[in-house]
Amino acid sequence: MHQREDEMEDIAERVKVCTRCELCKTRTNPVVGVGSLSARIMFVGEAPGYYEDVKGEPFVGRAGKVLDELLASIGLHRNDVYIVNVLKCRPPGNRNPLIEEIRACTPYLDAQLALIQPEIIATLGNFSLAYIFDTFGLHAQKDKISKLHGKVFTVSTISGTKKIVPLYHPAVATYNPNMMETLLEDFKVLANLL
Ligand code: URA
Repeated sequence: MHQREDEMEDIAERVKVCTRCELCKTRTNPVVGVGSLSARIMFVGEAPGYYEDVKGEPFVGRAGKVLDELLASIGLHRNDVYIVNVLKCRPPGNRNPLIEEIRACTPYLDAQLALIQPEIIATLGNFSLAYIFDTFGLHAQKDKISKLHGKVFTVSTISGTKKIVPLYHPAVATYNPNMMETLLEDFKVLANLL
């Protein structure tokens, strides 16, 4: 157990001094991740926003409130799962991540995936979906999130079978409250896998 903590600490230390892309020049704090290192489920978001950059913690703004509500709907708290982003540093103005930023940053996400070895990976939004599908050999099944959300994709990896579940990004519910219903239904899919 201590070994996992040490290894995550090591990743965090590397992220804190990372200069692999331009985002290091504008970040306030990098956002490494939060939650249990023995989590069975890992949520992968896109990138820190304003509040995440200030606090150094993922999903603490408006989308984070939605995520907390969704977790609570299936009896979970953010400490029961692991929450991470594709990018560790905030893109200025919350613009979309650039390909070179994703390329520079995802070795950290890969290291976190290898360390935690979650049985279930829930992607939040399009950038996370694209990266996780590519990483786990699901290129051929890539489609619009409106087609894939709430579906379960089973992949076999060197560390065992994993279930990948694409979800809408929780921010959608902040500008379209009707989407909360869809997200709640999709979270029931996660509950059934646990
Ligand atoms: N949106 C994300 O994708 N990640 C965060 O941490 C916050 C908002």
